[in-house]
Amino acid sequence: MRKTTFLKLKMREVSFISRALLSSRHPVLAHLIPMRRCNLACGYCNEYDHTSKPINIDIVKSRLDKLASLGTSIVTISGGEPMMHPELDQIIHHIRQSGMIAGLISNGYYFMPERIKRLNHAGLEYLQISIDNVEPDEVSRKSLRVLDKKLRYLSEYADFHVNINSVIGGGIKNPDDALTVARRAVELGFSTTVGVIHDGDGTLKPLSPKEKDIFQQVKKLGNKDHARLNWFQDSIAEGKAYNWRCRAGARYLYVCEEGLVHWCSQQRGYPGIPLDQYTMDDFDREYKTEKWCAPTCTLQCVHQVGILDNWRDPQKTPAQMVQEQKNEKGVGEMIGAD
Ligand code: SF4
Ligand code: SF4
Repeated sequence: MRKTTFLKLKMREVSFISRALLSSRHPVLAHLIPMRRCNLACGYCNEYDHTSKPINIDIVKSRLDKLASLGTSIVTISGGEPMMHPELDQIIHHIRQSGMIAGLISNGYYFMPERIKRLNHAGLEYLQISIDNVEPDEVSRKSLRVLDKKLRYLSEYADFHVNINSVIGGGIKNPDDALTVARRAVELGFSTTVGVIHDGDGTLKPLSPKEKDIFQQVKKLGNKDHARLNWFQDSIAEGKAYNWRCRAGARYLYVCEEGLVHWCSQQRGYPGIPLDQYTMDDFDREYKTEKWCAPTCTLQCVHQVGILDNWRDPQKTPAQMVQEQKNEKGVGEMIGAD
């Protein structure tokens, strides 16, 4: 990434963070899924199929327009494998035209020099690739051996920030691989992070002593800002619950391929409202609602968004929210009767 592009991106980030601290009434980050299809089939993943078609570009653009009208700061395109969407460049360009930061999460398989240059041209700002192991196995083929050539292309041609995420837990056989992946990422000039991954049902398993040791070593190698923002991972690695306020459905939005807003990839169905009908009333309700899955949640990006508001606006349980809505209705009826 060129130095000037990097500085411009950092300045935009600072301005978005200041805006998020000043006002809690807009989404900070949205994950948008333009296609559920993936070329791989990782054993721990519940977010892909092998048959679905790409969502029409005009529909994707209208969803982006709605996110922009809600005041969203960052849109990250995810999947499935979003590089399989034939109009991905247009999607990224539209995010930038709408004044939002454009990010992409990919398994890395489709990065060739010409494709990378097209993404530069479209205005991509962030790319994250998760690499699960060194050699492919029956759980995952997101492997350093397979992807190293793509990483070298990215190192040479990408004019966007590249982060390589290594993973620990969730059935990954050899925890040492996370360290090998992180070292290679640093060698190629990328930032690196480490995530504790969940099983197919989204639940957490505590790390083994060896996994914990590798986890700490990889964290030291990685992005210092990221490590500071991810202190929740120390509790999760110990198998302990972490107390925080998840603002999914408000500050963080997960918009599936059908255009429905969900809390996140692991809690699809809540609230399950179409994005084009999503209002600030929905935003406020979800902002205030305590999420039962928060104590064992491993989703790094939602934790990071949560930090912006952890110090303000305590949340209520879903039962308290229902009671509050009933009370408000009761008062409304009394006023109506008067
Ligand atoms: S983890 Fe990513 S690459 Fe693997 S199957 Fe799921 S969507 Fe595809
Ligand atoms: S706590 Fe985690 S799993 Fe639960 S809704 Fe929030 S992001 Fe999703």
